[in-house]
Amino acid sequence: MTLFEKIAAREIPAEILYEDERVIAFKDIDPQAPVHALIVPKQAIARIAEAKDSEGELLGHLLLRAKDLARKMGLAESGYRLVINNGSDGGESVPHLHCHILGGRALTWPPG
Ligand code: AMP
Repeated sequence: MTLFEKIAAREIPAEILYEDERVIAFKDIDPQAPVHALIVPKQAIARIAEAKDSEGELLGHLLLRAKDLARKMGLAESGYRLVINNGSDGGESVPHLHCHILGGRALTWPPG
Protein backbone atom coordinates (compact mmCIF):
# COMPACT_ATOMS: atom_id res chain seq x y z
CA MET A 1 0.00 0.00 0.00
CA THR A 2 1.19 3.53 -0.68
CA LEU A 3 1.40 6.13 2.08
CA PHE A 4 -1.74 7.80 0.79
CA GLU A 5 -3.62 4.49 0.56
CA LYS A 6 -2.73 3.99 4.25
CA ILE A 7 -4.15 7.44 5.04
CA ALA A 8 -7.34 6.58 3.13
CA ALA A 9 -7.55 3.30 5.09
CA ARG A 10 -7.05 5.22 8.39
CA GLU A 11 -3.84 3.27 9.06
CA ILE A 12 -1.90 6.55 9.20
CA PRO A 13 -3.54 9.59 10.80
CA ALA A 14 -4.21 12.73 8.79
CA GLU A 15 -6.51 15.70 9.04
CA ILE A 16 -9.08 14.70 6.45
CA LEU A 17 -10.85 17.59 4.73
CA TYR A 18 -12.98 15.80 2.13
CA GLU A 19 -13.70 12.27 1.01
CA ASP A 20 -15.95 10.53 -1.47
CA GLU A 21 -15.84 7.13 -3.13
CA ARG A 22 -13.06 8.15 -5.54
CA VAL A 23 -10.87 10.77 -3.86
CA ILE A 24 -9.66 11.83 -0.44
CA ALA A 25 -8.21 15.19 0.64
CA PHE A 26 -6.21 15.99 3.76
CA LYS A 27 -3.85 18.62 5.14
CA ASP A 28 -0.23 18.37 4.05
CA ILE A 29 1.99 17.37 6.98
CA ASP A 30 4.65 19.95 5.99
CA PRO A 31 2.68 22.98 4.78
CA GLN A 32 4.38 25.29 2.29
CA ALA A 33 1.67 27.95 2.53
CA PRO A 34 -0.95 28.97 5.13
CA VAL A 35 -3.35 26.61 3.33
CA HIS A 36 -1.81 23.43 1.93
CA ALA A 37 -3.92 20.36 1.24
CA LEU A 38 -3.47 17.30 -0.92
CA ILE A 39 -6.22 15.65 -2.93
CA VAL A 40 -5.58 12.10 -4.01
CA PRO A 41 -7.38 9.47 -6.07
CA LYS A 42 -8.02 6.45 -3.85
CA GLN A 43 -7.04 4.26 -6.78
CA ALA A 44 -3.24 4.49 -6.69
CA ILE A 45 -1.98 5.92 -9.98
CA ALA A 46 1.78 6.33 -9.45
CA ARG A 47 2.09 9.72 -11.14
CA ILE A 48 0.46 11.74 -13.91
CA ALA A 49 2.94 10.32 -16.44
CA GLU A 50 1.44 6.87 -15.81
CA ALA A 51 -2.20 7.93 -16.10
CA LYS A 52 -4.26 6.16 -18.74
CA ASP A 53 -6.85 7.67 -21.04
CA SER A 54 -9.41 5.46 -19.28
CA GLU A 55 -8.64 7.36 -16.04
CA GLY A 56 -9.65 10.70 -17.53
CA GLU A 57 -12.97 10.88 -15.72
CA LEU A 58 -11.27 10.21 -12.39
CA LEU A 59 -8.70 12.93 -13.08
CA GLY A 60 -11.45 15.37 -14.03
CA HIS A 61 -13.25 14.52 -10.80
CA LEU A 62 -10.03 15.13 -8.85
CA LEU A 63 -9.66 18.63 -10.32
CA LEU A 64 -13.31 19.53 -9.80
CA ARG A 65 -13.22 18.44 -6.17
CA ALA A 66 -9.91 20.34 -5.73
CA LYS A 67 -11.72 23.47 -6.96
CA ASP A 68 -14.61 22.86 -4.54
CA LEU A 69 -12.23 22.27 -1.63
CA ALA A 70 -10.26 25.45 -2.44
CA ARG A 71 -13.53 27.36 -2.23
CA LYS A 72 -14.46 25.61 1.04
CA MET A 73 -11.05 26.57 2.48
CA GLY A 74 -11.71 30.23 1.66
CA LEU A 75 -9.35 30.58 -1.30
CA ALA A 76 -11.81 31.33 -4.10
CA GLU A 77 -11.49 35.11 -3.91
CA SER A 78 -7.76 35.43 -3.18
CA GLY A 79 -6.66 32.67 -5.56
CA TYR A 80 -4.66 29.52 -5.15
CA ARG A 81 -2.40 27.11 -7.00
CA LEU A 82 -2.95 23.47 -7.93
CA VAL A 83 0.33 21.57 -8.36
CA ILE A 84 1.11 18.04 -9.53
CA ASN A 85 4.79 17.11 -9.19
CA ASN A 86 6.00 14.39 -11.57
CA GLY A 87 9.28 12.52 -11.24
CA SER A 88 12.54 13.59 -9.64
CA ASP A 89 12.99 16.93 -11.39
CA GLY A 90 9.34 17.69 -10.68
CA GLY A 91 9.92 17.21 -6.95
CA GLU A 92 7.73 14.14 -6.56
CA SER A 93 8.39 12.41 -3.24
CA VAL A 94 5.32 10.16 -2.82
CA PRO A 95 4.68 7.83 -5.76
CA HIS A 96 0.89 8.07 -5.58
CA LEU A 97 -0.62 10.78 -7.77
CA HIS A 98 -1.75 13.79 -5.76
CA CYS A 99 -2.66 17.38 -6.43
CA HIS A 100 -1.43 20.06 -4.02
CA ILE A 101 -3.84 22.90 -3.21
CA LEU A 102 -1.80 25.89 -2.02
CA GLY A 103 -3.02 29.30 -0.97
CA GLY A 104 -3.39 31.87 1.75
CA ARG A 105 -0.43 33.95 0.55
CA ALA A 106 0.79 35.32 -2.76
CA LEU A 107 2.76 32.51 -4.40
CA THR A 108 5.82 33.40 -6.43
CA TRP A 109 6.43 32.46 -10.07
CA PRO A 110 8.49 30.81 -11.40
CA PRO A 111 8.55 28.14 -8.66
CA GLY A 112 11.93 27.18 -7.20
P1 AMP B 1 5.29 15.51 -3.60
O1 AMP B 1 6.62 16.02 -3.16
O2 AMP B 1 4.62 16.31 -4.68
O3 AMP B 1 5.32 14.02 -3.91
O4 AMP B 1 4.33 15.72 -2.36
C1 AMP B 1 4.23 14.84 -1.30
C2 AMP B 1 3.62 15.60 -0.17
O5 AMP B 1 3.16 14.69 0.80
C3 AMP B 1 4.61 16.54 0.55
O6 AMP B 1 4.14 17.88 0.46
C4 AMP B 1 4.61 16.02 1.98
O7 AMP B 1 4.71 17.04 2.94
C5 AMP B 1 3.28 15.28 2.05
N1 AMP B 1 3.21 14.24 3.05
C6 AMP B 1 4.11 13.27 3.28
N2 AMP B 1 3.69 12.46 4.27
C7 AMP B 1 2.48 12.94 4.67
C8 AMP B 1 1.54 12.54 5.65
N3 AMP B 1 1.75 11.48 6.45
N4 AMP B 1 0.41 13.27 5.78
C9 AMP B 1 0.19 14.35 5.01
N5 AMP B 1 1.04 14.76 4.05
C10 AMP B 1 2.18 14.07 3.88
